[in-house]
Amino acid sequence: MTSRHSLERHLHMELNVDRFKDYGPNGLQVEGRAEVRHLVCGVTASLALIEAAIEAGADAILVHHGLFWRGQDGRITGWMKQRLARLLAADVSLLAYHLPLDAHAEHGNNAQLGRVLGWQADGRFGEQDLGFVGQLPQPQSLQQLGSEIEQGLGRTPILAPGDGRELRRVAWCTGGAQGYFEAAIAAGVDVFVTGEISEPQAHLAAETGVAFIAAGHHATERYGVQALGRHLADRFGVSQQFIDLPNPA
Ligand SMILES: [Zn+2]
Repeated sequence: MTSRHSLERHLHMELNVDRFKDYGPNGLQVEGRAEVRHLVCGVTASLALIEAAIEAGADAILVHHGLFWRGQDGRITGWMKQRLARLLAADVSLLAYHLPLDAHAEHGNNAQLGRVLGWQADGRFGEQDLGFVGQLPQPQSLQQLGSEIEQGLGRTPILAPGDGRELRRVAWCTGGAQGYFEAAIAAGVDVFVTGEISEPQAHLAAETGVAFIAAGHHATERYGVQALGRHLADRFGVSQQFIDLPNPA
C-alpha cells in the first residue's frame, strides 16, 4: 500500500513532467482516496475503462490519455459528467501522463514499442525530442516490416510506400504523430512508424521515397502505461493490472 501523494510525487520526478509543454495537465487529474492498494492501468480514461477499473477494485487509475485537454469548453455535461460522476462516486483517483509517458527512456511508449518490435534506438528526433530513431535488426522490405508489426501488435497496419528501397533506418513515435513525418524524413530514415495516418502523408511518402506505416494509435500506445504500472508495483508494493479495451483507431 502507498499514498496517492507518494505515487504522484514519484511519477512527477520519474517522468520529468516539468520538461514538457503538453496539451493537458500531467499528474493527478481527479482526486480520490488518500491510500492506494490497487492500481488499474489503461490507455484512455474512457467510461468503459473507468467502470472496469472500479469493478476491479481500483483505488487509482493510471492512463496515457486523461480527461482534460486544451480546447475543451470546460463544461461538466454529457460524457464528461458520466466519466467524472463514476470516479467521484467511487472515490477513485485518475492520474494521467501524456507526452512525458511517450518520451520516457525506459517506461515510455516509444521505448516500449521499440522493445516489443525489436528496434534498437540510437537517437531522438522531432519536437521536444519525442521521436526515436534507430536501426532495424535486418534490412527488409516494407511488406516484411508491415507483417512483423502486424504479428507484434495484433493489428493490420496501413502502409504508404516510399520508393521501394530496402528499409534499414527507422523513426517512430506512437499515437497521432503523423505530423512528425517531415521531421522523420529530415532525420534521414527509410521508414517512419506512428499510430495514425492523414491524407497528406501518403503523398509525402511517394514524393520523398520514405515509407510511412500507421500501426494504430491505441495499438502503439498500450505498452508505456504497462511498463510504468509494473515499475510502480515493484517500487511501492501496490498491486496493479492493465485493462486493455480494444479500439479500432
Ligand atoms: Zn495518444
